[in-house]
Amino acid sequence: MINHPNACDVPALIVNNLHKRFGTLEVLKGVSLTAQKGDVISMIGSSGSGKSTFLRCINLLEIPNQGEIIVHGETLNLSPQRDGSLKPSNPRQVERIRARLSMVFQSFNLWSHLTLLENIIEAPIHVLRIPRQIAIEQAEQLLEKVGLYARKHEYPLRLSGGQQQRAAIARALAMNPDVMLFDEPTSALDPELVGDVLKVMTELAAEGRTMVIVTHEMGFAREVSSQVLFLHQGIIEEQGTPQAVFYAPRSERCRQFIASRI
Ligand code: ADP
Ligand code: MG
Repeated sequence: MINHPNACDVPALIVNNLHKRFGTLEVLKGVSLTAQKGDVISMIGSSGSGKSTFLRCINLLEIPNQGEIIVHGETLNLSPQRDGSLKPSNPRQVERIRARLSMVFQSFNLWSHLTLLENIIEAPIHVLRIPRQIAIEQAEQLLEKVGLYARKHEYPLRLSGGQQQRAAIARALAMNPDVMLFDEPTSALDPELVGDVLKVMTELAAEGRTMVIVTHEMGFAREVSSQVLFLHQGIIEEQGTPQAVFYAPRSERCRQFIASRI
């Protein structure tokens, strides 16, 4: 069990009453969360409940129809358009907020024509404008941390899925984000490769990294999270400490979901 610090700082991430529609399909119907620095928030729920859409809205890969996103005290400015949709008012602000978040996807999304090291230094050099030599040193330390230093000059497709995902985590860390977003990071992996990725994520949690993790790994969510959210049809139906959500859920649907996964 991890002791999460109770920071009195400004929260790393606040999401208030987020709504997202695709056409007439209302996918998120008012989802809120607050992540203090060092919090690990796990999101669980059936396929189609809106988990990925929620993460994509936080990262501004999708623009919400309504709601508020505040990253490290900075509120994303969204302007209403004539058709009723919202649009970020300031592209610079979007860049700034995106640079504070990094997302790890189910499908790794490494650049296949770049080596692991090149994958990791790309954004620090071009987005954060860190000098190349320093970016390389940092990338090497991160590869060491995820157990891939010896493979730094390999191309991603020569590695296992688990190794690629650990490299993707190193790449996310290289941006030194305030909040890391993970969308089912182990779902595409062969079962024997899942453990190494969860181990890296557990270490990040223990180091006090702020993370929002969509996962089907119930044991991991129970051990590592400060808070667990159960999403059902775009609404948070259950929310609380892992103890409360896993051992005493009020929602029968949540109880059944967990029972079906353990
Ligand atoms: P989850 O990650 O919980 O499985 P998603 O957020 O991926 O759920 O999807 C929630 C719902 O939104 C699903 O019904 C899905 O088909 C729909 N959806 C997601 N993205 C789009 C999109 N770009 N256009 C239309 N519908 C979408
Ligand atoms: Mg999903």
